[in-house]
Amino acid sequence: MKKLIQGIVDFRKNLTEESRNLFAKLALGQAPDVLFIACSDSRVVPNLFASTNPGDLFVLRNIGNLIPPASPESQEASSQAAIEFSIFSLNIADIIVCGHSECGAMRALVHGTDSRCPHLASWLKYGEASRKKVQEGFVIDPSLSLHNQISQVNVLQQMEHIKSYPFVRERIEKKQLRVHGWWFDIGRADVYCYEPAVNQFILIDEKEARLILERLS
Ligand SMILES: [Zn+2]
Repeated sequence: MKKLIQGIVDFRKNLTEESRNLFAKLALGQAPDVLFIACSDSRVVPNLFASTNPGDLFVLRNIGNLIPPASPESQEASSQAAIEFSIFSLNIADIIVCGHSECGAMRALVHGTDSRCPHLASWLKYGEASRKKVQEGFVIDPSLSLHNQISQVNVLQQMEHIKSYPFVRERIEKKQLRVHGWWFDIGRADVYCYEPAVNQFILIDEKEARLILERLS
């Protein structure tokens, strides 16, 4: 907490004229073109590893980067509200689901949760299908530990959950929206993009970035 408070003082002191102007402009409205869905984990820092500025990303973060699938009985609304708002009000063109290595939520899917955290246990049910798929033999990268394998499969699972909403599917079919799966390796500080053609997460280096950009145009 002390570091946080000092950080705010430093931020004020070091704010450049350029940044002040950017914030003044952003006060009039936001126009991000991406909904970025990531885990709450303190080590996952989208603005840092994607070198983005304020105003670039509309971000949803929760434990395990989970999205409840479309269901009339669903009691959850937070994630769906972020998806609805970003699509209908911000008209975003891309949704990125970004999982990460050493995710506590994925470990909890394997080892269970603290009995004092019933809400956490209930929330993690949206990741259960990912654990089940891996334990039933669905493989992306067998060299990874079990929880990291689940984390990668979980990215694909949550992409499916997002696509279970009819308004999302409709936009995808009209080519107005794309859903991407990314994975952040904390130890290497590398970001990977899921390539369905090879069923692998591929490092986003200059070559892969070119391929991704070509597909977008
Ligand atoms: Zn996590």
